[in-house]
Amino acid sequence: MTVSRLLVLRLRKQMFENLLVQDIALYDGIMVGQLTSRMTSDVAQLTQPISQFLTMFLSGMVQLTGATVMCIHTSWKLTLLAATMLGPVMYLTTVYATWSQGVNTLIMSAMGDCTAVATEALRNIRTVRSFGADQVERNTYNSNIDLCWKWMLKDSFASAGVTATTYCLSFATGVLIYWYGGNAILDGSDMQLNIGNLVTFNLYWQMMQTSVRQMNSMLSTLIVSASSGKRVFEIIDTSPDIPLDDPAALQLGHTLPDIVFENVKFTYQMRPDSLVFGSVSFSIPAGKTVALVGKSGAGKTTCVSLLLRFYDPQGGSILVGGHRLQELNLRAWQRRIGVVSQETQVFARSVRENLSYGLSSEEYSDASMEEAARAANIHDFILSMDQGYDSMLGEGGSRLSGGQKQRLAIARAILRGPQLLLLDEATSALDSENERQIQGAIDQMVERMQGNCSVVLIAHRLSTVINASKIIVLHEGCKLEEGTHDELLRNDKVYAKLVRKQLAKEQQELQQD
Ligand code: ADP
Ligand code: MG
Repeated sequence: MTVSRLLVLRLRKQMFENLLVQDIALYDGIMVGQLTSRMTSDVAQLTQPISQFLTMFLSGMVQLTGATVMCIHTSWKLTLLAATMLGPVMYLTTVYATWSQGVNTLIMSAMGDCTAVATEALRNIRTVRSFGADQVERNTYNSNIDLCWKWMLKDSFASAGVTATTYCLSFATGVLIYWYGGNAILDGSDMQLNIGNLVTFNLYWQMMQTSVRQMNSMLSTLIVSASSGKRVFEIIDTSPDIPLDDPAALQLGHTLPDIVFENVKFTYQMRPDSLVFGSVSFSIPAGKTVALVGKSGAGKTTCVSLLLRFYDPQGGSILVGGHRLQELNLRAWQRRIGVVSQETQVFARSVRENLSYGLSSEEYSDASMEEAARAANIHDFILSMDQGYDSMLGEGGSRLSGGQKQRLAIARAILRGPQLLLLDEATSALDSENERQIQGAIDQMVERMQGNCSVVLIAHRLSTVINASKIIVLHEGCKLEEGTHDELLRNDKVYAKLVRKQLAKEQQELQQD
């Protein structure tokens, strides 16, 4: 009992530790619920038989060995005869065990799908309800439950069939033993046999059967456990292609590095046929602000992911201070980066914990936190909450508006004191009034950090990138243009066209107001 409980905890710990450092690409191809299901149900199934198994298996083995020795001792001929019947039993059991292991993997996978559907639906309960999709979710969940049940029934019938056949064979063997033994005694062809040891043999034979049956009854549990074990160890034994902490990896010095994309070629594993970057080259000079613009789907967010080394490019390289990004210690590199991503992530913790996320207590103080919050224009709002910086934010920041979440994310990025600031449409979730406010905060921050921090600015509103040292126009994975706002306007190509289009749109909006 204690052993299996300890094992459950150990396995869960190991799985979670390993999942935290897996390649981001893994998460593109799997639902999180599938993983949590492996950490909970599969681990429980895997460890369930351990305590029973040890005692039952050991006593079964002792009994089986003793009974076999006594059978041979009583009559080796009868033992041989009985053993011929064991062949079909073992064959049947092996076939069933192999089949059942496959079936149980299917069952556990369907259970994983159940958890995946449930977690996703409950996490997005507001969307589910606002679209009246509760029945759709219920049906999807139920169809997975039905699938589990279908395979469980099949497994139970097969298991019952195997047990019944084994009983029949065992009965037939008993009859065979009496028939052969009886005849041998009557015609005197086996001098070793007499009525006494025929009966004794049968008793030992029954004992052997009981222990085999006892161990067989463990079989189903063991098969389920083995199927779950496969799913658990698949995770524990996977090591990421992109290691977070490689002791042999380079640590950069303190100087601000230039960053260069050199003929970068990139495709997402999940969509191998669609090339995101064919061969893209540009540089982010140390301390400068570089803006990436382009239509949705142009590959701007992908640049951010590549800089964070969530993925490695398939061709070309990203150079940081002259070194390939792959050569650097990833943890140390990511520590230098502050990100405000397109979809702001807020944890169900306090404001303080959210702001200092990923920092140790020596790396920030209350004063620096307050300063960051002020710079992001969120300090006053935080103070207006019931417990100020200790107020809890609810899952996914459900107690905040989109703009508040984004300002919190900006403050979080500032507090890290980054060398590289990645702002991926940091103002996209805001109305224009809010956007102007935050844009002011970002401009201030960029100005304050001038020279101490390189900035990659992705903005859907072009007016926000006018002051960038360099603007890069991406289109379907190619770099179309590069230059300052004025240079690109003079060029009068794609960027100039985009600016004119947006100006016209903004004017239209103004007139409507
Ligand atoms: P942008 O940020 O400029 O709107 P993205 O960099 O997000 O564009 O996306 C570039 C292309 O890559 C798009 O075609 C998008 O569908 C695809 N893409 C983005 N993320 C993934 C992913 N995790 N897996 C597969 N394809 C992706
Ligand atoms: Mg994007």
